[in-house]
Amino acid sequence: MTQIIDGKELSQTVKQEIKEKVDLIKESGKRPPHLSAVLVGNNPASEAYMRNKVRSCEQVGFSSDLIRKESDITQAELLAVVKQLNEDDQVDGFIVQLPLPDHIDDEAVLLAIDPSKDVDGFHPYNFGCMAQGLDSFLPATPYGIMIMLERYGIETSGKNVVIIGRSNIVGTPMSLLLSRKGKVGNSTVTLAHSRTKNLPEITRRADILISALGKPFFVTADMVKEGVVVIDVGINRIDDLTRKSGSRLVGDVDFEKVAPKASFITPVPGGVGPMTVASLMLNTLKAYNNKYDV
Ligand code: NAD
Repeated sequence: MTQIIDGKELSQTVKQEIKEKVDLIKESGKRPPHLSAVLVGNNPASEAYMRNKVRSCEQVGFSSDLIRKESDITQAELLAVVKQLNEDDQVDGFIVQLPLPDHIDDEAVLLAIDPSKDVDGFHPYNFGCMAQGLDSFLPATPYGIMIMLERYGIETSGKNVVIIGRSNIVGTPMSLLLSRKGKVGNSTVTLAHSRTKNLPEITRRADILISALGKPFFVTADMVKEGVVVIDVGINRIDDLTRKSGSRLVGDVDFEKVAPKASFITPVPGGVGPMTVASLMLNTLKAYNNKYDV
């Protein structure tokens, strides 16, 4: 029997847990945690992610603000915005939505963020702490996947995990988190990427397969074994003339064909995506608690 991992429902549960903590903070007369978000330009996908993040802040009782900048903002101007947010005592955490326009160096912007407010967990300080198992903000997508595995009682210890994709925001941190010691962890991890040879042979050995490469229907039924746990991180928009919009979102996995072989599988949409936002809320609460030593 295949079990669908319902990221939408789990994210609501996690957000409800956060809300209960925020209610207590407010009842004690303190201000709620505050998340700021910086959005440069008007990329439709980024706009949609931002709307979700702002809505989630409302759901959990955080205050938030969205700082919009035109796509012709200079790097120096954007760095000045980051500096101001770093210095603003009322802002517990903030994110700069990627991708940024080509003339801006993403790295320079991420490096300028105060690590104690880096609730996306992208700063090398947080990444390094994570790699060494020290307290840090975990990058939101891998963090959300760790919560999914834990809450669905999926055993990771001693399991063969194959991750496809080695980005700094998903594949690489996921490989570190699952290979280290911990309640969710102790896995034997293979990190596959565009230069990997004989990928289907490798993925067929996976007890847990995490796909984060961004290619629709890439993972096919012949690439997985019976009973595999499939976590589909990909978000790909494909044409679909049966839809009013003319398109729909799919993951990296050929869900219809792979799901019957899987013990657990995440859908797209409604899987990893909502958990990413819930994890961002958890990181913001953590930033607040760190600041006030709660
Ligand atoms: P990316 O786009 O930066 O990199 C893609 C990775 O896939 C690279 O490491 C590359 O080596 C690997 N790759 C490409 N072709 C391959 C092939 N044929 N075989 C094996 N590996 C191959 O990665 P990203 O930013 O992690 O994004 C990956 C996908 O995940 C995208 O669809 C993105 O939209 C999605 N995503 C979803 C969430 C979420 O919350 N659900 C969060 C982040 C990213």
